[in-house]
Amino acid sequence: MPQIASILIATRNPGKIREIAAMLGQQGIAAMTLADLPMLPDVDETGTTFLENAAKKAAEYAAAAGMYSLADDSGLEVSPLGGRPGVHSARYAGESAGYETKIRTLLAELAETGSDDRSARFVCSMAFADPAGKIIWTAEGICDGELAAAPSGTNGFGYDPIFIPAGFVKTFGELDDAVKRSISHRARATDAFMRFFLDFIGV
Ligand code: IMP
Repeated sequence: MPQIASILIATRNPGKIREIAAMLGQQGIAAMTLADLPMLPDVDETGTTFLENAAKKAAEYAAAAGMYSLADDSGLEVSPLGGRPGVHSARYAGESAGYETKIRTLLAELAETGSDDRSARFVCSMAFADPAGKIIWTAEGICDGELAAAPSGTNGFGYDPIFIPAGFVKTFGELDDAVKRSISHRARATDAFMRFFLDFIGV
């Protein structure tokens, strides 16, 4: 059984760090993040799928840090837009555009389709690599829902103010953090990780 004091959450996204660290913390798993290791070079997200990007980040950061590393790649897929922005969610409407702009652009693009269909889903692929950079586990979490007509709420991050998860009438921006932590794409992938990890370390 490997003795693992701490794992590296291989992301610089403060919203993801908050959510993943809180979920791991509930299980007593200590985590470092890329913010603790600023000397590590950035890994380019050149993959064409969430899984490819998650695996690339987990493998490269694990090897660079010499630590067990968990990476997530995630995004929003909008059905009437053929799944866009998808893996380009963070870069949609320009890398430096803020989320007000990204959301406004996305809602305008959706309106242009003339479709009544507003269905969308958040997808999160996760990958876990050993300190040599070998991928030893992957999973995907999905959260179905639809896009609101206008942004609402300030909780969460990214596209949360326009995403209404299935079974709810409020956006992730309005819903309590605890609700998002129990049903989100990232929560589902993290739950799967927890099950794998506790077994891996022999708990
Ligand atoms: P990446 O995984 O770092 O490439 O970026 C994922 C991007 O997808 C984020 O920057 C957000 O734009 C979007 N995204 C992923 N997960 C969420 C979420 O839980 N809420 C809102 N937006 C998200």
